[in-house]
Amino acid sequence: MSDCLFCKIINGDIPAKKIHETPELLVFHDIAPKAPFHALVIPKKHITSLNELTVDDEKLIGSLFTAAKKVAADGAFAEKGYRVVFNCGADGGQTVGHLHMHLLGGRSLEWPPG
Ligand code: AMP
Ligand code: ZN
Repeated sequence: MSDCLFCKIINGDIPAKKIHETPELLVFHDIAPKAPFHALVIPKKHITSLNELTVDDEKLIGSLFTAAKKVAADGAFAEKGYRVVFNCGADGGQTVGHLHMHLLGGRSLEWPPG
């Protein structure tokens, strides 16, 4: 999608601090971290939100979790714990219309979120 911020990051039109990349997905540092470690795990395929997910995307979405596990292990906070979150739609707090998993770690996280 030409006007999508995260598609522009995938295409290299906007810079990002990349952590991990495969042909299907990209992991990069969030520009405004909410924890000592805050990365975004995104599919390279443009999917606007969880609402647009189809059964054909199930393997792709599974790969986001595997990537998060790897990045958490590499970040050395996996044993202490971390959180993965998908915000969906306005009430869910989604501000970028390209499906993304937040991976937060490095501190004790509160529950429930606001
Ligand atoms: P959400 O509010 O769930 O849609 O999350 C969007 C996330 O994208 C926020 O945590 C933002 O800080 C992050 N973000 C916005 N622009 C950029 C950017 N250019 N590079 C990296 N992260 C970004
Ligand atoms: Zn996109």
